[in-house]
Amino acid sequence: MKKSWPPFNFSAGPAMLPKEVMEKAQSEFLNWNGTGLSIMDLSHREDAFIGIVEKAEADLRQLLSIPNDYAVLFCAGGASFHFSQIPLNFLKNKAAYVDSGIWGNKAVKEAQKYGKVDACSVLKDVNGKWQIEDESNWIFESSDQYDYVHFTPNETIGGVEFLQNPEFGRGKWVADMSSNILSKPINITDYGMIYAGAQKNIGPAGLSIVIVKKEWLESGANPLTPSLLDYRVLAENQSMYNTPPTYSWYLAGLVFDWIINQGGISVMEDRASKRSNTLYQFIDNSDFYRNPIAFSCRSRMNIPFTLKDESVNDRFLKQAHEAGLVALKGHRSVGGMRASLYNAMPEAGVSALVEFMQWFEMKNG
Ligand code: PMP
Repeated sequence: MKKSWPPFNFSAGPAMLPKEVMEKAQSEFLNWNGTGLSIMDLSHREDAFIGIVEKAEADLRQLLSIPNDYAVLFCAGGASFHFSQIPLNFLKNKAAYVDSGIWGNKAVKEAQKYGKVDACSVLKDVNGKWQIEDESNWIFESSDQYDYVHFTPNETIGGVEFLQNPEFGRGKWVADMSSNILSKPINITDYGMIYAGAQKNIGPAGLSIVIVKKEWLESGANPLTPSLLDYRVLAENQSMYNTPPTYSWYLAGLVFDWIINQGGISVMEDRASKRSNTLYQFIDNSDFYRNPIAFSCRSRMNIPFTLKDESVNDRFLKQAHEAGLVALKGHRSVGGMRASLYNAMPEAGVSALVEFMQWFEMKNG
């Protein structure tokens, strides 16, 4: 008999938020902190809202151990804005781009509009599995030739994660952490800048977060840079040069608070390993399902998989959806399936998925 579950959402983003966060937001939606007002209609200049954003920043700084010589920005819009903003702000002479998939490649294409870019495609097919090429084979000049070195620690579509960071460019990394921020501890001083769209591990869509070394802001952006895309302007105005996405910012604050209450980043890391190991082990032990990524760089956040018989893909997705396991369709550019297992995904969601996959294999294998 096919089982069903309360919906578990495996979307790559916008992705599920922790239930406790949703409930808290719901409980104070019409009456925040006894004020009788909703965050929705508070001005971003109100003391009450300033209190919310100060706590959000302090909590994020605590979670990621962000030193004082780094600025934290809460920006309107998604991660793609930063593909253009980064070269406008930091590309003076030449930049290196490590291209490990679709998002890394999009960043390359935008940067090339503004200046000189050396891009190296580092993903290669080894016996039918995608693998990040050893960095000794990357074709770049010495890292001191570059203003910065851009890479994508987790490729959301391909399901490829740098489980170990490269050495190349350490200290001048610019990292698109959209899909794995807050899932493991990081050493901020290895980076000049980190950015992430919110809609996976941070909060709702419409917000992105930047952590940037203050020293990097000193030399100023390209003079043609619109003020709103100039990180120095955003930093000087406490991320309020114009009206920020206030509600998304507030929700991000609730998520940071939730992570702290769960025990912090190391707890998120443990859970991410457990969740992804459970699913990978099941896939590896099956002849019916297959993951196309080498062990050395399998994402803990996004797990793409294919079925032995692709003609039953649609049946798989339909029956999974009926069972309460939603948004398992792979990205339109690659097809197949993808299970995204961000911080808010409970272990019960992964167990349910494995149980469903077992059942489906039995019926169709
Ligand atoms: N980078 C990565 C790694 C992503 O996963 C995404 C979105 N899935 C983006 C960039 C683009 O984000 P946005 O749609 O917020 O611009």
